[in-house]
Amino acid sequence: MLKGKVALVTGASRGIGREIAITLAEKGAFVVINYNGSKEKAEEVKSTIESNGGAADIYQCNVSDFAAVETMVKDVVKAHGSLDILVNNAGITKDNLIMKMKEEDFDDVIAINLKGVFNTIKQASRQMLKQKQGKIINISSVTGILGNAGQANYAAAKAGVIGLTKTMARELASRQINVNAVAPGFIDTEMTAAMTDAAKEATVAQIPFQRTGNPKEVANVVAFLASEEASYITGQVISVDGGMAI
Ligand code: NAP
Repeated sequence: MLKGKVALVTGASRGIGREIAITLAEKGAFVVINYNGSKEKAEEVKSTIESNGGAADIYQCNVSDFAAVETMVKDVVKAHGSLDILVNNAGITKDNLIMKMKEEDFDDVIAINLKGVFNTIKQASRQMLKQKQGKIINISSVTGILGNAGQANYAAAKAGVIGLTKTMARELASRQINVNAVAPGFIDTEMTAAMTDAAKEATVAQIPFQRTGNPKEVANVVAFLASEEASYITGQVISVDGGMAI
């Protein structure tokens, strides 16, 4: 389904990004596994892909660093000849109520979760415009749709990702570039493992399916949006949240 395509997945060393990388590779794409600090984990993702018969490479880059992202995208295109699929998955949380939230915690989350998405799209879209094709999938969150007490920085960034997605979809549509967002709900990863049991129970109680999601359930939707089967879908936000945002 994705044979011959080159995909770049940011934050693919762990969690949802790891599963997206593995799933895109299973469908035949060559996957560049971007990571920031977790080199060993990124190497493990590459080995898993290769042992499944796929092909991948790892690339260290902090997505909030504009110049480093420019170099990463140039290197990917130089090494592999094209960039067909960009998945903006890298993200962090630095939660606190607004009264206690430090300025740097707001700035850090915006820098990685929102500006990082601008950085990669700015560079990748140049290549995709030349190719006259491409798929961009941005990982937002249910929090960007509903808001969440204690996550002002994260909610602002993830709502910003939705605005960026819709605008990029309009700007890039004339060259057959699809830009969509996926908004996961409560997915089992290291990000959510940090929550207290009480907070987890309270969150699950708000989910119509009454359970958390798993990374594969998000990755499957990303793989669909990255495929030609989704050729007429752009500017959309697809919730993968067990009904949380209904
Ligand atoms: P995770 O397990 O904490 O993994 C985060 C990934 O992002 C890691 O691979 C990490 O790489 C990478 N990363 C962090 N900062 C980076 C940077 N500056 N540059 C490049 N990569 C960076 O998180 P997750 O739960 O899988 O979340 C993945 C995405 O889904 C995030 O955008 C998150 O906001 C979103 N999301 C998650 C949930 C959920 O319930 N889990 C719900 C909604 C949305 P290193 O380890 O190498 O630093």
